[in-house]
Amino acid sequence: LREGEGLISRRPFRKPHHTVSRSALIGGGAIPVPGEISLAHQGVLFLDEMTEFQPDILDLLRQPLEDQAVRLVRLRHSITYPADFMLVGAANPCRCGECLEPNAVCRCSDDSIRQHLNRLSGPLLDRIDLTVEMTRLTAEEMQQSVSVQINPVSLSQEMAMQIRDCWGIQQRRCQHHRLAVSGNARISGPALAVILEIPDATTAFAAQAAARFNLSVRSYQKVLRVARTIADLESCHRVGLDHVAEALQYRFRWPEGMERRGA
Ligand SMILES: [Zn+2]
Repeated sequence: LREGEGLISRRPFRKPHHTVSRSALIGGGAIPVPGEISLAHQGVLFLDEMTEFQPDILDLLRQPLEDQAVRLVRLRHSITYPADFMLVGAANPCRCGECLEPNAVCRCSDDSIRQHLNRLSGPLLDRIDLTVEMTRLTAEEMQQSVSVQINPVSLSQEMAMQIRDCWGIQQRRCQHHRLAVSGNARISGPALAVILEIPDATTAFAAQAAARFNLSVRSYQKVLRVARTIADLESCHRVGLDHVAEALQYRFRWPEGMERRGA
């Protein structure tokens, strides 16, 4: 290895199957080996068909998502593996997959939808920054998706530049506050709003919304961090109510007319 270079030069992308075992996911075994979450360190852990995973397996992700590391306790000793990964998941909203489609008929009962979505526990959803509902493409969007007029390369180059600028803003802010971390996502604690330079009117608005939507403190802080990031992406110094309103839309919501029960 050359100086300053590691074995891995590209961010890892791991996609374990929904039948993954406990030790294959978080690590362990008779002779301990790192699991998928550590193999995804500094990269992406993608869980497709997230509602097909065993709920107790999914809940194993809660502690590593908080600590960016996993501690495996053995009989006489414990072992800690790094696990700083970005969790990305995809799931159908119900068994038949149609319940969010405006022009389709969902064949699932309310109970079945509830059972299906309850496989993602409240505490796990609480630790996810962004959830987005996606419906099938319209005829027009389908056509656009193969249109030659949109150049995907220049589009992603443009996005990459926007993200790089946004990162720069966050790094400078962290340096200014003499923090060891560099990124909105890693900032927590009682000085969160001061460090992220979010005005009182905005934190108050977010708190009122959090109370109305029954959000946890963790979710409230996530909303503030996401609102800060949205403002950074727009190179906007002031985090306004519109940024909070957009961030609130990324919290997990039950399909219309339903709510979590018996979770
Ligand atoms: Zn359905």
